[in-house]
Amino acid sequence: MKIKNEVITANTIGIGGHVRPDGDCVGACMALYRYLCKVYPEKRVDVFLEQPPGVFSCIGGIEDICTDFRTDVEAYDVFIALDTVKERLGGAERLFDQAAKTINIDHHISNSGCGDVNYVDAGASSTSELVYEVLDEEELDAEIAKAVYVGIIHDTGVLRYSNTTPRTLEIAARLISFGFDFSELVEKTFYEKTYVQNLLLGRALLESIQFMGGKCVVSGLGKKTLDFYHADSKDLDGIVSQLNQTAGVECAIFMYQTGVLEYKVSLRSKGNVDVSRIAVFFGGGGHVRAAGCTMSGTFHDVVNNLSLHIEKQMKEAGIL
Ligand code: AMP
Ligand code: MN
Repeated sequence: MKIKNEVITANTIGIGGHVRPDGDCVGACMALYRYLCKVYPEKRVDVFLEQPPGVFSCIGGIEDICTDFRTDVEAYDVFIALDTVKERLGGAERLFDQAAKTINIDHHISNSGCGDVNYVDAGASSTSELVYEVLDEEELDAEIAKAVYVGIIHDTGVLRYSNTTPRTLEIAARLISFGFDFSELVEKTFYEKTYVQNLLLGRALLESIQFMGGKCVVSGLGKKTLDFYHADSKDLDGIVSQLNQTAGVECAIFMYQTGVLEYKVSLRSKGNVDVSRIAVFFGGGGHVRAAGCTMSGTFHDVVNNLSLHIEKQMKEAGIL
């Protein structure tokens, strides 16, 4: 798919990504937004996302994002959902539903395509990689390249997870040739943590519990702790990956409290357990090795409900 063929006759174009946007979501949305603004200065292009984490302010044009989802466009000629199904578009779901034509670009295995036109490839490292594929090379510039690069490095753990393909590295090589400071970009958006983020990571690790003979590890942060640190979901990125790096662990669970009896759950796997299947069962989604969902109950209810599925898969895989 080339995006120009899909939007050529549109006068108004909206772009949206998932709630609690991560690096891939922000990178993909901003890259496509900047590209369409550049190629079609005469068209109205708007990008809708919840407020992205502050580290992404290094992406040019980030202040253009409509974080309140308000617009005076009655119905967009084209609305493009990136890195998600329409149900996770948050305030932009309404705009997607009203649009004359919808496009969905995503790499989640749990997404079967929700647009009139779909470009969903679970084999791609990131939605940003797919966005790169739909753009015309000769119209890229350093700022667009930077946004795509941010997306790719965030979803591949800086080009190290198994979703990194030869094509991902080819694209990454092409992107850094635009000359932006990729080293600083990786340091500032991926590795650097605030003091509070480090404290929360520390607590989560300290209070983690291994079970299933050490093949599973779980940790959680309750509302009281989050309030004490004035923390929100943006401060919890990376905790589940660190848990999953524990030697011997096949599956890691991290959850934080979002309501009286409600948790946002993140799952990571080394590959033997398909956590997307488990997340989909509980109404969420994701990838084989990284998935998420929201679950009801106490911390222990959530662990018990997840454990049944994890244990079943481990037994099937012959590792338990
Ligand atoms: P997280 O654990 O939130 O970092 O998410 C891991 C992966 O699963 C990401 O690709 C998310 O986009 C996806 N994901 C997380 N929560 C959900 C959900 N409720 N529905 C669908 N996909 C999700
Ligand atoms: Mn993604």
